[in-house]
Amino acid sequence: MSSLISATVAKLRSTFRSRKTRPAAWRIAQLKAMKKLLKEREPEVLAALKSDLNRPYGEAILAECSLVTSEIDHAISNLSSWMKPKSVSTPMVHLPGSSKIMYEPKGVVLCISPWNYPIQLCLAPLVSILAAGNCVLVKPSELAPASSAFIAKYLPEYLDNDAVAVIEGGIDVATELLQEQYDHIIYTGNGTVAKIIMAAAARHLTPTTLELGGKSPCIVAADASLDVAAKRIVFGKFLNAGQTCIAPDYLFVHESIKDKFGELLKKYIVQFFGEDPKQSEFSRIINTRHTERLQRAIQSGGNILHGGQVSVEDKYVAPTLIDQVNVDSELMRDEIFGPVLPILPFSNLDEVIDFVLDRPKPLALYVFSGSSTTQDYIVGNTSSGGVCQNDCLMHITNPELPFGGVGPSGMGAYHGHEGFIEFSHRKSVMNRFTIVDPSFKYPPLSESRVNW
Ligand code: NAD
Repeated sequence: MSSLISATVAKLRSTFRSRKTRPAAWRIAQLKAMKKLLKEREPEVLAALKSDLNRPYGEAILAECSLVTSEIDHAISNLSSWMKPKSVSTPMVHLPGSSKIMYEPKGVVLCISPWNYPIQLCLAPLVSILAAGNCVLVKPSELAPASSAFIAKYLPEYLDNDAVAVIEGGIDVATELLQEQYDHIIYTGNGTVAKIIMAAAARHLTPTTLELGGKSPCIVAADASLDVAAKRIVFGKFLNAGQTCIAPDYLFVHESIKDKFGELLKKYIVQFFGEDPKQSEFSRIINTRHTERLQRAIQSGGNILHGGQVSVEDKYVAPTLIDQVNVDSELMRDEIFGPVLPILPFSNLDEVIDFVLDRPKPLALYVFSGSSTTQDYIVGNTSSGGVCQNDCLMHITNPELPFGGVGPSGMGAYHGHEGFIEFSHRKSVMNRFTIVDPSFKYPPLSESRVNW
């Protein structure tokens, strides 16, 4: 395997050196090819996602494919303006002359992706990487084997396989991949592995983008539009059975509306997934290890208000609401990453803000309130990768917004223009004209000639 990896990296490096990835036309051709791949191979994408996660049609299209195609459309429409060098002013002392920032492709990028949105979280980074004119080596997650096989089969078929390569495998392969030198590494997954990635990157001083997770809080104030809030939270939490990095992890609900809000959540769970969600197209948990972990979290976390059924054999966990939450339990210690929603009451906003600030900075934060003062107070006094007010998850769908974490929830960001910048080197270029050459900087620099 190590010789295959070295040969693949060498091939990508030689392609990059050939300069074929630099022109806008090549980049746009790759983006169009990626869109064509998703459209033409829709049945194969759907089958892979069904096999890995029991993902239903609507979820597969909306959360995996259309997010990528809207990133592609946005990049194609804006690429020529993104690529244009940006002129900046030049200090008087350096005139006559000019200054600009050029956006230079970095080179060969390693992209290691996770299992939970195995198509989207592999291809959306590629939109930014290829728009910026790089070559890329992709390592999909071994935990979503059908999606990994789909990517390995079709990416090289549709895209320029001199510049885009896929190597499948698990931890052993990822470890070998990290022996090589890259010009940038993007890793999406958990914080423990992120430290391994960063340590490997440090050996070559390789810049990294780390897209991680965390416990994203969701706060519902008493003045929120409760019915809409409940519907949107049930959607955001239980999409992909809660295996979403930006899913609301736990709820803070004002004590005056807690019981009523619990009933509304139950109403929408039943409306969306039926009385027995196991019979619906509710997504499954990725493997039995994670199913057992969720079972333990449900048992230790508090009182089961709704759901709670688990079938390890079927990798099924019912949409579950927990109240009387034990804040020291596993449920509140680690990212849940499953369809289990703890509900905590609060009486004042500072209590919520302190709770959030006492814990690692999350990837997302949600606040539902009819008052912009309340929204601003929470958003302005907490830190998170992103925020969505009066909805969940939707900020990820806007290509104008950078997507990334802060502190333990990640570093760097991509999507849209920010993604183009992330995978480009911003090269400072000053051009000094030779028409005049004043002598003030040349030695001898006596005290009388140096003023500051
Ligand atoms: P995972 O187990 O699929 O791991 C992700 C990738 O890391 C895989 O390709 C895997 O092969 C590789 N990997 C695993 N161990 C490794 C090692 N020792 N060395 C090198 N590579 C290794 O996915 P996961 O970590 O279970 O994903 C879930 C986590 O990812 C959650 O915390 C979630 O919040 C986070 N996540 C974040 C985002 C985001 O965009 N910020 C998106 C999805 C998931």
